[in-house]
Amino acid sequence: MILIKEGEIYTPDFIGTKDLWVGGGKILAIEDNRVMADFKNIKPIIIDAKGKLVVPGLIDGHVHIAGAGGEGGPATRTPELQLTEMIKAGVTTVIGCLGTDGFARSPIDVLMKVKALRAEGVSAWMMTGAYQLPTPTITGDVAKDIIYFEEIIGAGEIALSDHRSSNPSSEELAKFAAHVRIAGLLGGCAGIINFHMGDAKNPFKPIYDLVKNSELKYKQFLPTHINRNPWIFRESKNYGKDGPVDITTSSYPYYPDEEVKPSKAFRELLAAGVPLEHITFSSDACGSLPAFDTHTGELLRIDRGLPIANLHELRDSVLVEKISLSQALRVLTTNPARIFKLNTKGELAPGKDADILVLDKDLHLETVIANGQIFMQNGKILKKGTYE
Ligand SMILES: [Zn+2]
Repeated sequence: MILIKEGEIYTPDFIGTKDLWVGGGKILAIEDNRVMADFKNIKPIIIDAKGKLVVPGLIDGHVHIAGAGGEGGPATRTPELQLTEMIKAGVTTVIGCLGTDGFARSPIDVLMKVKALRAEGVSAWMMTGAYQLPTPTITGDVAKDIIYFEEIIGAGEIALSDHRSSNPSSEELAKFAAHVRIAGLLGGCAGIINFHMGDAKNPFKPIYDLVKNSELKYKQFLPTHINRNPWIFRESKNYGKDGPVDITTSSYPYYPDEEVKPSKAFRELLAAGVPLEHITFSSDACGSLPAFDTHTGELLRIDRGLPIANLHELRDSVLVEKISLSQALRVLTTNPARIFKLNTKGELAPGKDADILVLDKDLHLETVIANGQIFMQNGKILKKGTYE
């Protein structure tokens, strides 16, 4: 058992200074500072959190865990996510996806990486498919993937409004979305579709048309990269009132001229009246960060994203944008947990999975617990990935 002593607890709501007990991978109790009668004969590992902040482990809803990219040729294919890259970022749950390359990479690679991360002790799920429609799957049918594999909770990222999209017709998109929805029902999972949003003008039109011409609801769709350029961001202030929107953290500051800084985008969405529950952050980690010449379409340079961008932007949301910590935490905890239907995640409460971070007052990460196991303590990594 682990006892996190006298920390300031954010569930994400601030509930005061309390002791948090962990056992069997779960949060057992959050109590005022006293020896709990039930546990008095047990000698727990004690983590002193006096003067520190205790918050839920972060959920990163869009990570190319098995590698991605390749838009600059084979040498630009990105490597897989390493366990320590997650832990250093306070990310204890990832949702994996494939990305641009649905030809030379497969959802099987992502599924095996989900299994590998779970075996290493953290939590992982995935979305099946790639940018293109029809989209690559494991079983030959996106619905069967979602129903048969507990690890698969939806489809994505499907590219819209992008020069790398397969430009699906509205009819094609509606059929696909309905197929994924029924799979979510039968599979008992979110059945969500994560849309990669590109640089085309009027970017949300395909989703507006989809909802207008069907019985489908906005909550089934999570468009991402909504801070990638000024015009999609402007439109996301309206779209975000209807459905969830995901801000990408790791591409900033690679495109400072085009992008809206994630923490600033967060504050502006709130100011525009977008409900807090509709906003999420994800890193797009391991995705390549290519820059194309706007006139010729030629690839200019390429980089690789990291999950730590979430933590930087969380910190800036609080310290620079003056959003309260309990509000800011929601975009990386309760909101993705609800949108992806991960019922045991995203919150500090008895019975939830013991995914816990201890931060100092300046929001620097000190300790990371995932599924009740200590991966990092006082800034020192205790457990690394198999090949690290
Ligand atoms: Zn994308």
